[in-house]
Amino acid sequence: MKNVTVMGSTGSIGTQTLDIIRRHPDELCVTALTASTSVDLIEKQAREFAPKLVAMYDDTAASGLSKRLRDTGIKVVSGMDGLIEAASLKEADIVVTAMVGMIGIRPTVAAIEAGHDIALANKETLVCAGHIIMPLVRKCGVSLYPVDSEHSAIFQSLNGEDHDDIERIILTASGGPFRTRSYDELSKMKAEDALKHPNWNMGNKITIDSATLVNKGLEVMEACHLFDVGLDDIEVVVHPQSIIHSAVMYKDGGIMAQMGCPDMRLPIQYALFGPRRPYLDTKRLSLTDLGTMTFERPDPEKFKGFALAYEAARIGGNMPTVFNAANERAVALFLDGKISFTDIPRLIRIAMDRADYIASPSVDEIIATGDLAEGYVNDALSDMK
Ligand code: MG
Repeated sequence: MKNVTVMGSTGSIGTQTLDIIRRHPDELCVTALTASTSVDLIEKQAREFAPKLVAMYDDTAASGLSKRLRDTGIKVVSGMDGLIEAASLKEADIVVTAMVGMIGIRPTVAAIEAGHDIALANKETLVCAGHIIMPLVRKCGVSLYPVDSEHSAIFQSLNGEDHDDIERIILTASGGPFRTRSYDELSKMKAEDALKHPNWNMGNKITIDSATLVNKGLEVMEACHLFDVGLDDIEVVVHPQSIIHSAVMYKDGGIMAQMGCPDMRLPIQYALFGPRRPYLDTKRLSLTDLGTMTFERPDPEKFKGFALAYEAARIGGNMPTVFNAANERAVALFLDGKISFTDIPRLIRIAMDRADYIASPSVDEIIATGDLAEGYVNDALSDMK
């Protein structure tokens, strides 16, 4: 039996993780669940999966939930301390980190220090703190399994091969819903246009990040840490059909790719079971029905957030945190209808220009940098008015 803690259990990855656990009652069980505010859903999940502990980041949500779960004996905790308690609960074998945002960093550090394997779905962990996380993973002797479809595809394509034999990593991108729009058209796009993602059904924040290609920039940064390669060893290829989920080219010219119909449950299941591949009722890919796959280069002139991600990654230190936090705030403003789509990279640029550089930030400095970057975006917004 594998004991799984699911952090961010009410989000898109969290609910799909529980779907996988539900299918394997003899092999997987839930140790702890965490969420931010979704009391109704997490109550349902807690009653179904009977974890030892549930943590709510929001205090009010936690006290509401603890009243509702009074008859169950399940412990309810709250705040960052609660998330850390859930992450480090000793019964767990693996912690799925599917919470969104920088609040994922501290609990992930706690889970690794508690000796748990990590199924990594929280982007910020490696983007902002990769220089802390990767050495800690090695020191604590735990494994880090990627859940993101692209990184899982790379991980699956690396299976059993020698790191020295890698020539380059081919990271695919769908190109998002605005791939064929001109830059002028981009500035008029509204949140509801961006939320119609052609291939993947995901949370709102990541769907906007996919439309700006910021998500791909963040994934490049993550891949550098996860697979110990340089920025220039990664080639981003826009592949609108999202059938090849990413690939590795080896020094003999051979390319290993992982393909299939888009379904996040496959990478989630692989993170929990790999290298085993139990039955999963994904839609089967028919190559003859598909007929054609197309590939193109990303356009950093049009998708300026993508170019800024590379700039932040090359500078390193706390700059990826500035990039990420400014983007997080700008996306929230865009979803709120407060700024235009092309204002997102504009605000990131302003925050990157204002930020003070820290070469090797601690977790505290990362969190502080994130708060400052958010403030720079808010300042810039009031200047724009
Ligand atoms: Mg992805």
